[in-house]
Parts: sequence; structure tokens; C-alpha cells
Amino acid sequence: MSAARIVVVGTGYVGLTTGACLAGLGHRVTCVDVDQAKVARLSAGRVDILEPGLSELVSRGLTSGRLEFVVGARDAVRDAEAVFLCVPTPMGAGGSADLRTVEAVTTEIGDVIPPGCALITKSTVPVGTSKRIQAMLGRTDVPVVSNPEFLREGTAVEDFLGPDRIVVGSDDAAAARWVGDLYADLAAPVVVADAASAELVKYAANCFLAMKLSYVNSIAELCERLGADIDLVTEGMGYDRRIGRSFLKPGPGWGGSCLPKDTSALVKVAESVQYDFTLLTSAIEENIAQRDRIVAKIAGAVGGTLAGSRIGLLGLAFKAGTNDLRDSPALAVASVLGALGADLTAYDPAVGGQIAGMTVVDDPYQVAKAADAVVVLTEWDEFKRLDWNYMAEQMDGDSVVDTRNLLEPQRILDAGLSWQGVGRPRAA
Ligand code: NAD
Repeated sequence: MSAARIVVVGTGYVGLTTGACLAGLGHRVTCVDVDQAKVARLSAGRVDILEPGLSELVSRGLTSGRLEFVVGARDAVRDAEAVFLCVPTPMGAGGSADLRTVEAVTTEIGDVIPPGCALITKSTVPVGTSKRIQAMLGRTDVPVVSNPEFLREGTAVEDFLGPDRIVVGSDDAAAARWVGDLYADLAAPVVVADAASAELVKYAANCFLAMKLSYVNSIAELCERLGADIDLVTEGMGYDRRIGRSFLKPGPGWGGSCLPKDTSALVKVAESVQYDFTLLTSAIEENIAQRDRIVAKIAGAVGGTLAGSRIGLLGLAFKAGTNDLRDSPALAVASVLGALGADLTAYDPAVGGQIAGMTVVDDPYQVAKAADAVVVLTEWDEFKRLDWNYMAEQMDGDSVVDTRNLLEPQRILDAGLSWQGVGRPRAA
């Protein structure tokens, strides 16, 4: 396909990656945001989010003239052939997806978007949103296409340029195929679907992953009660190709900017058609139970009562490789610990600044200072390489709770500390 004139609305994880990558593929891309300061920074080549390869792609796009950043979608879309909506769809009141930004942008551009231009939702939106957008537009010469995004934070560029699949769905099949062709250079399978199916793929996939994690956390709990080792159990499970090895690691609960809101939204969608999605609601409940079990484990590690205890936290981001704190399970655990009276000091290699309820430090060894327990909450590799003898010298207590099963227990024992993971035998 020849280069297309593309507008991307929203320059967050998804929008910026989409814009920079599509420019890299040769398209002419205008990225739009409402945040003027962000647009100014991006226009100067400054990228705030931690995504390998993204800064370089943005710089290359700016230098080549194929990528630009502007404020305001209305002017930007006037000669576009494709407009990608990459704006937030957070959890709204009651748990459904909040579509107000999607709708606001649709209203903003609805009467100036040129005939034939595809209006594409890359934001995660519930089934029926394409139809709703089409009705809001009040015109049929602008095809609405669902093109859900599956990139993972921390590997966004790699995922965008090497996707497992591309899903495009519209009740206008030709428009869906045309959008699929924008990615022709990526050599990924393209699933061309109707709008409802494409919209559902994203939720079905994310909720499946959430359920897989809740399942693994439940099996980890069983391991603790039965004296089995989750690492061995999941190793044995993961060789089964029907199951696969990914998303088989227990942890402090799943989180991040997508899984909590998407699971909640799908439950609400199911309710809207009188389906009681108990499998999914159980996975959500199990996730809260997992957080509480982790808190109980930490309480046990400091002698049973958290009030007045000093806890050092290693990791705040929702997973390693990102500085995203949205719905981070580390923060969820920290918030309960704080509410129960623990004094918290935290370090994360990608997170600085102030966070309510804790002292954030810029040196991992500071979290150990006078700590009754040190808790690993995010699976940053650098925590494995800490000098645990020095950590032990700093600590008042001797407990390490490793909610990611990240550390080598023997190293912790050698430092004179005790180690507790998740679903594994305690090492003391
Ligand atoms: P984000 O919060 O990182 O970025 C959203 C951007 O949109 C921000 O820069 C914001 O300033 C901008 N914005 C808000 N209102 C706007 C408006 N009216 N006009 C123009 N710009 C506006 O969000 P994100 O993480 O990139 O997520 C965007 C969508 O993609 C969501 O629906 C999300 O569920 C979905 N998604 C996210 C991921 C992920 O890993 N983050 C992966 C797949 C899908």
C-alpha cells in the first residue's frame, strides 16, 4: 500500500507507539493530544514513557518529516485518510468502560472528517461502540473500524512491529480490509471481522489472561497448603503446548492499566445481556484475595501485626520494564499495608517523586534501613543483583517476602535472612 495520511488521537502508550511506528512504516502521521506541554515535549523529540526504541522512532519520524505532533484533532483530520482513536477508556462509575473521551473526540471531528476517511478505534471499547460512533457521526460516508491494540507496556514497539495478529473489524468489510493493509509490511496474520467480533476479541483475550493469572495464584495457594512448589508445577504445566509457558507466574495480584478495567467492563457487558459471567467475577474476586493473602504473609513476616512495623518495598510499577503505576498491584498491597499502620519506604528503578503514604527513595539499599521486612513487589532484574549481605546489615528484622519469586532463596539465606515466596516452601 502507498503511504497514507494518518491522524492518531492521543499520544499515550498506545497512541505514541502507533504514530511513531506507522511513520516508521512510511505513512505520514499527525499525532494529536490535548496536553499542550506533552505535544511541545514530543515535538522536541522528548518521550516521557519508558519504552525501548520509542524515542529513536519518534526522533527519526520528526527528522524525516513523516511524524508531527499537534494540539487539537479538528484541524488535523481535515485531509486524513485514517483517524486512529487512542484515547483513554478508563473504568467508569459502576465498572463499565468510560467512553466519554471517545465520544468527545467523535463530536469534535464528526463534521470535518473527510468522506471516505476511516475512523478507527484502537482504544479498548466495548461491543457496540463502533455502532454508537457511527450513529453519533450521523453520516455513512465515514466507515468506523475497530482495530484493537495488543501491545504490552515495556515492549510496546517490539509488539507493535511484530504482532501475533492484527484484528480489524467493521460492518464495512472493505474498510476493515483497507485498515488491515496499512500494516501490510508487518507480515502478521490479519483477522478481518465484523465490528462486534473485533471489539470482543480484545476483552476476550485480556480477560483470559487475567483468569490465567488468577488460576495460577490459586494453584500457588494450594501449593503452599499442600507442600508443593509452584515453580515446579508451572514448569510441568508450561511444556503443554495447549497451555503455554506465559502468564504462569504467581505474584501479588494482576493489575496495570488494562486488566482491571477490562475485566470489570466485560462483566458489565455480560450483565447488559443478562449473562452472569461467574468465571470472570471469580477471577476478579480471587485477585483481591491474592492481595490480601500477600498482606497477611507480610504481616506474618513481621510477627503478626503491621501497626508500627517498618517495611521496605522493592518495586512499585505494575510490572518490570515500565514506569506505569496505574492500578499497580504493588501500590494496592502498599495501600493496605499503610492502612494497617505499617511505615513504608519504597524504591523502584523507574519511579521517582512523591507517592502518598510512603517515602520513595532513589537507592534500593535505603529501603532496608531499620526495616522489619523487605518485600519484593515488582520483578525488576536488578533486585536479584543487590548485595543482600549489605541489605541484611541495614535491616532490623530478617524477613524477605518475595511476591514475584524473583530472588534466589539460597542467596537470601546466606545473608542470614529468611525468604518467603508465593506458592513455594519457606526458606529459613
Ligand atoms: P494513556 O493514558 O497512556 O494515553 C492517552 C492519551 O490521550 C494521553 O496523552 C491524553 O492526554 C490523551 N487524550 C485524552 N483526551 C484526549 C482528547 N480529547 N483528545 C486528544 N488526546 C486526548 O492511555 P493508553 O495506555 O495509551 O491507552 C489508550 C487506550 O488503549 C485505552 O483504551 C487502553 O485500554 C488501550 N490499550 C492500552 C494498552 C496499554 O498497554 N497501555 C494496550 C492496549 C490497549
